[in-house]
Amino acid sequence: MTTPLIFNIQKFSVHDGPGIRTTIFFKGCPIRCAWCHNPESQSFQNEVILTKDGQQEIVGRTYSIEELVREIEKDTIFYEQSGGGVTLSGGEVMSQNMDYLETLVKTLKNRGISVVIDTCGVAPFKHYQRLMPYVDLFLYDLKFIHSALHTKYTGTSNRLVLENLKKLSDAGAAIDLRLIMLNSLNSDEHSVQKTIEWLRENMIHLASIHLLPYHEFGRDKYPRLHRETPQLFASPSHDRLVEIRQQFNCYCPTFINE
Ligand code: SF4
Repeated sequence: MTTPLIFNIQKFSVHDGPGIRTTIFFKGCPIRCAWCHNPESQSFQNEVILTKDGQQEIVGRTYSIEELVREIEKDTIFYEQSGGGVTLSGGEVMSQNMDYLETLVKTLKNRGISVVIDTCGVAPFKHYQRLMPYVDLFLYDLKFIHSALHTKYTGTSNRLVLENLKKLSDAGAAIDLRLIMLNSLNSDEHSVQKTIEWLRENMIHLASIHLLPYHEFGRDKYPRLHRETPQLFASPSHDRLVEIRQQFNCYCPTFINE
């Protein structure tokens, strides 16, 4: 079994699902979002990053399942008190070694730890089917409803993203839909209406919707990885975000704010 690389274990996370969570960031992603805040998450290989004070640091290391579960269990008391647990994020979790992932989520479930998966939707559906019985919630990204824009800004069409979202919903998975908000790219009236129409036509059942306004965090990491700094995007205004929220509210009344 190829053991996946992990590049960060974030304790006391409160933005990656319910309650207090430990978020595990797996290294390797099949797509390339032009705004990615974690460029060190994209390659499936180890790489060197310069720290802010100019030291070389290796990004990515392996953990045996026992070692990782031990680390996660250190905060069990906080999960119990807050309704939290563990969130598997990335990079893209669903593109990792699925034997490893299935054993990990089964083990966590058997120990009574809630599992949330954060995914961009670009993975074979059979991977989702394998993990679904042990996953309490999917944080599911939909970046663009227009396929051409999805291709332009992530390098991949949204066909699989939409197909997997429909299949997960039909299979009864709990889904928190996460929409990155980029001014004048996916937050205009037409894009929002088209997204709502698509959700309606496909009868997508959502536990909640999460608007994620664009921010500039992580741009400083690109030169430290010897990569070109990406273009700047902008978030829609506060007023526009309120309008978008109202528009989605009639489809799914449960909103989570960042
Ligand atoms: S899906 Fe996430 S990790 Fe992958 S490139 Fe996009 S923002 Fe980065």
